[in-house]
Amino acid sequence: MCGNHRPDGSTVDHHHGPHHHLDERPVFMPAVRGPRQWRRRAFLGELGKGTMAFAVLAPAFITACSDDADTGSSADGTTTTATTTTTNEGVSEPAGLRWARTDLGFVSAYVLARGTEAAIVDTGVAGSAEDIGATLAAIGLGYADVAHVFLTHLHGDHAGSIGEVMAQATSATAYAGEADIGGIDFDAVTATADGDEIFGLEVIATPGHTAGHISVIDHDAGLLVAGDAINTLDGGVQGPNPGFSSDIEVANASARRLAQLSFNTLLAGHGDPIEDMADTAVAAMAATL
Ligand SMILES: [Zn+2]
Ligand SMILES: [Zn+2]
Repeated sequence: MCGNHRPDGSTVDHHHGPHHHLDERPVFMPAVRGPRQWRRRAFLGELGKGTMAFAVLAPAFITACSDDADTGSSADGTTTTATTTTTNEGVSEPAGLRWARTDLGFVSAYVLARGTEAAIVDTGVAGSAEDIGATLAAIGLGYADVAHVFLTHLHGDHAGSIGEVMAQATSATAYAGEADIGGIDFDAVTATADGDEIFGLEVIATPGHTAGHISVIDHDAGLLVAGDAINTLDGGVQGPNPGFSSDIEVANASARRLAQLSFNTLLAGHGDPIEDMADTAVAAMAATL
């Protein structure tokens, strides 16, 4: 039963953006599930027009594929896939990082949460605050619980709702890479830099798509949010697009740097999440750059 419950499916045409899929670069598919390093409980649901996935991640080291997967549909049409590990003694409770996706069609925003505190990574195009609020609600939180809003970069499909989001997330701090702040239409963005630790996330400078592009990683949970440093269109991993990178050589170097990291889950601005051994697929992609 291993490997058959990845939630992202194989057809993602409706996620293709208007400008991120115009080339024919190779796509590196994530590896078939092998030895697992992260325990995972994944839940999928659909709510309104936004499709959401949320998961609880924990840093348990598991060497055998030993999952029981249960899939069912509830009366309201919500599909839930629950994956539990049953054979490992001493497995701790989840470390507490939960994530949820706001699928805005061709771009995604993400909510990360620990307990009752949340961070938002990217805000989508203008007019997305309501959808992001629905994502927060889906994991039992609201804008009042948002302490941090990260913008991976200045482009309007990522920073377009920063003003609307910050108007509701009144106790949050907004962050972006310093070189991008001048291009963001919000006047209270705090510069963050490579190596900063915020909300248990490490900020990784990943310039090249834009000069100030950042990614964030939770090392314990094995989760990387990569913005447009790499994308996951067509169900696999693609490197920087030369046509949409301010400096493709710098962008490629950033992708190679991300390939040095260990993570299981990859959340990209464009494309579906990859939830198993995503680092392997990123490394395969980066080796060709
Ligand atoms: Zn972009
Ligand atoms: Zn984008």
